[in-house]
Amino acid sequence: MSERRLRGLGASAGIAAGPAAVVREAGYESVGGGPDEERRALAALADVAADLGAAADRLRERGFEEEAKILEANRLMAEDPSLTAAVLERASAVGAVAAVRAACEHHAELLEALTDSVLAARAADVRQLGLRAERVLTGARAPADVATGCVLVARELGPADVAELPLGIGGIALAAGAATSHAAIVARSLGVPMAVALGDELLAVADGAFVVLDGDTGVLTLEPDLNTIARVGAASERALRQRGRQAAARALPAATIDGRPVRLLANASSPAEVRVALDAAAEGIGLVRTELAFLEAAAWPNEAEHEAALTPVLSLLDGRIATVRTLDFGADKTPPFLSGIDTRGLALMLEHEGALSDQLRAIVRAGAGTQLRVLLPLVEEAAQLRRVRALLQDALEAAGWRGAPPALGAMIETPQAAARATEIALEADFLSVGTNDLVQYTLGLDRELPLATARAAADPAVLAHISATVVAARRVGIPIEVCGEAAAEPPVAALLIGFGVDELSVAPARVDEIRVVVQRLSAEAAAQAAGLALSAGSAAEALALGEALLDERDDERGQVAHGGGGVFA
Ligand code: PEP
Ligand code: MG
Repeated sequence: MSERRLRGLGASAGIAAGPAAVVREAGYESVGGGPDEERRALAALADVAADLGAAADRLRERGFEEEAKILEANRLMAEDPSLTAAVLERASAVGAVAAVRAACEHHAELLEALTDSVLAARAADVRQLGLRAERVLTGARAPADVATGCVLVARELGPADVAELPLGIGGIALAAGAATSHAAIVARSLGVPMAVALGDELLAVADGAFVVLDGDTGVLTLEPDLNTIARVGAASERALRQRGRQAAARALPAATIDGRPVRLLANASSPAEVRVALDAAAEGIGLVRTELAFLEAAAWPNEAEHEAALTPVLSLLDGRIATVRTLDFGADKTPPFLSGIDTRGLALMLEHEGALSDQLRAIVRAGAGTQLRVLLPLVEEAAQLRRVRALLQDALEAAGWRGAPPALGAMIETPQAAARATEIALEADFLSVGTNDLVQYTLGLDRELPLATARAAADPAVLAHISATVVAARRVGIPIEVCGEAAAEPPVAALLIGFGVDELSVAPARVDEIRVVVQRLSAEAAAQAAGLALSAGSAAEALALGEALLDERDDERGQVAHGGGGVFA
């Protein structure tokens, strides 16, 4: 047999090779009803709720506060009286397993009928709850039973299933699912490679069959031939050695070979991410996405809720930079209470000034021990900054803040904002380019494909907006950061440095890699390449210019390493 490939979407980066461990949905036979079935059904739901609570506690202990909250929300769902009543209504007639399945399906359909993408995601969570309860009732294999080193294969998983996977699991391959699902968020946080949307063919894979999973490209290789296995083995070893070399480069400053410093920050919104960032010697946090803690919120978070969410994250930073962005609700980050809105980011917050003031007061209090910066998402015009500065001043007075006020920054994330970058810069203390949205709004690309979005930032149309923003910041004399995924894409990062960006803020797991990119570059050569990239014919051409900067340095580093045992060997 020759190897075959199933193509899906990459949901969490990394490669895994190992035996497939197939977790099938529980099969069942109708056992008929009876009073005992009601008791069994209730006991199964109670078991599931207890398991979810325990899993949330374990995540919290490991510092994964955001992920723990997702599981807590699922636990509350398992205890929802209307779900329990719907199960009881059916159990004595059709048996516990069928009752749980039908009641959860009914609940899920009700949620889906609300035609809201956020609530549709909750529907998947209810179905997962039902599956967990069915597994309890039938004794079927659960994801948590999968052995380490295996690639878990399933139709779909809930966030709790991913959180409970044994440490050392190889990866996850799902027939259904989305790269933006809660399960994918948990997988990325835990660093487990994952591919989703691989199709029903995946479910025909035999338990124990050797497979290769690529979480970057979303490809699963079945019956890999010896060449593929050797290639993957060699790639894993190379990646391990490379990580070691990159970690060694922490001892050297993040500066180009011709001496231009680039400040390396991390995008982190949970204590676990901050710890990874600090381990990698990031200078601080360049973006805290505060809305992530409140995606399930039933109302605008109040001051105490904001403070409770932020304090565990910011308290780890101890005098370092903490760039806290105000809520960026809207689009794919719309909590149930805002369902149906069509504004986003700062404009939405300015329609709800009370909620913005509550958050500003909490940020000021939670960030007191840090080098605090307040960042505003999707800024459209200078007047918005003037209004927020007045609100921030009130918040500082309320908190009895002493010393210089925190810097106030504006995110440039649309072509319109880039066109007004100078006006905006005149009212700001720093600028930050959000390339994820800038790519989406400039090119009409779907930002749910993170890797494609990062590389698409090299499109000359996007580069022109970035360059205009850097020029504006320079003219006004304020620092400029880039915090979208593009900052962690080496050839794009090289071009960004060429344009004159001062700070790059990247996923905590990429800090080491990007530091090495900075250390490899000549700022002068990067500036020339960036100039050429602006008139390149395509993103591919511009990327090639960025790659060439890194390749040239590779050759030179090889010589340095031979001569002096440098860190780039
Ligand atoms: C961006 O758009 O690049 C960004 C950093 O913000 P977010 O991904 O949270 O929209
Ligand atoms: Mg954005």
